[in-house]
Amino acid sequence: MSKVGNYYSINPSDPDVYHDQSNCPSGQQIPPANRRSGTNGYPKCKHCRDM
Ligand SMILES: [Zn+2]
Repeated sequence: MSKVGNYYSINPSDPDVYHDQSNCPSGQQIPPANRRSGTNGYPKCKHCRDM
């Protein structure tokens, strides 16, 4: 696993969470067009917390 900068999805249908793991199964589903850097004030995603 590798830690990357915080990122989140701008897609309204995605959960309001941010990710900080590059191999997060949820974060990997975010297409580059929807991916933004930062947390947007969201809590960290469950997968990223457990990793
Ligand atoms: Zn995640």
